[in-house]
Amino acid sequence: MLNSYDIIIIGAGPAGATFARIAEKSQKILLIDGSSDGKPCGGLLAPDAQKALACFDLTLPREVLVDPQIFSVRTIDLKTKQQRWYQRLYINVDRKKFDNWLVSLSPFNVTKEKGICFKIQKENDGYIVTYKNSSGETINAYGKNLIGADGANSIVRRSFFPKLHTRQYVAIQQWFEEEREIAKPFYSCIFDADTTDCCSWSISKDGYIIFGGAFAPKNCRSIFENQKEKLIKFGFPLNNPVKTEACMVLRPNSLKSFCCGGDGIFLIGEAAGFISPSSLEGISYAINSAVMLNNALLSDKKDKHKEYKRATKSLRLKLIVKNLKCPLMYDPYLRKIIMKSGFSSIEIYQK
Ligand SMILES: Cc1cc2nc3c(=O)[nH]c(=O)nc-3n(C[C@H](O)[C@H](O)[C@H](O)COP(=O)(O)OP(=O)(O)OC[C@H]3O[C@@H](n4cnc5c(N)ncnc54)[C@H](O)[C@@H]3O)c2cc1C
Repeated sequence: MLNSYDIIIIGAGPAGATFARIAEKSQKILLIDGSSDGKPCGGLLAPDAQKALACFDLTLPREVLVDPQIFSVRTIDLKTKQQRWYQRLYINVDRKKFDNWLVSLSPFNVTKEKGICFKIQKENDGYIVTYKNSSGETINAYGKNLIGADGANSIVRRSFFPKLHTRQYVAIQQWFEEEREIAKPFYSCIFDADTTDCCSWSISKDGYIIFGGAFAPKNCRSIFENQKEKLIKFGFPLNNPVKTEACMVLRPNSLKSFCCGGDGIFLIGEAAGFISPSSLEGISYAINSAVMLNNALLSDKKDKHKEYKRATKSLRLKLIVKNLKCPLMYDPYLRKIIMKSGFSSIEIYQK
């Protein structure tokens, strides 16, 4: 028997979980997610993400937080060997627990399914979604509307809107056990023009150091190792990884990098291209686009697609402005001047 829903959401990251939580309770919703290990992520809630949560008057449970909390970022340019520290007001979280917590807030009208969607077909006025559930069974479900909240490599976007013009990177992260006796936890942002035109990072998290970076797809793994070697020489304790993870990450650079959907399909979060091209911060855009879609669907406007596109104009403009600011961070020459000047950096008394 084919189960029928008003809305099927594919992906229960911050975008999908937020939409499921706030959507009208009269809607019968299916929320499908295939993740078992959690999404590779730095797990830092930037001020914009904190504001997005604050707008719901939500408080973060302690179990979601990890040790330590972070006040500064050590910024390193591997080519010029320059270093500066900048104040940052992030909240350091366990990303898997954060996502699980958001999903746990879904109300009674949301059916949650563990499963990987591998086929979507247009059928009459809706869509048939085919997924493999956690017992290995193939299930078909019918949805009048479909929400693609399935992240950078969205099957919804690839199936129906394949002409998205955006830069795609491979994000690779490795986890290392911290030697507790000598550990001095910190957060760093690393630039290395020889290996990537994007950035890398290291973050201490509950006794581990995560080192990750975003690289152009070609030879990304060997380039990652190359950069890691440089950091080991720089004194980073990055030997004997206990876990390696990778996924695609988008980096929008023009208005053509965004797609809100069409014909009964709505894209939210990174599936729509909403992620900062400068910092790769995406959680706030995921939450905010889910809110904007919900408002569009609740509005009295007849054309919900037009209304959602209109509502997300502010997100697109914000991301385009961030893209225009990118050269200040990513152009090696400009970065050298800015880091040398010490502009907006803080002084560290004991390094
Ligand atoms: C390495 C890395 C580090 C990052 N660090 C940060 C950070 O510290 N702070 C920050 O704000 N942003 C960070 N980002 C960006 C941020 O993770 C994303 O922009 C954000 O998670 C997007 O949320 P989303 O809900 O749109 O998609 P996602 O969080 O990607 O969620 C998509 C969900 O869809 C599911 N899914 C995908 N395909 C299918 C399918 N076929 N069937 C079923 N389920 C499916 C996935 O399992 C996943 O749970 C980072 C990104 C990367 C790659």
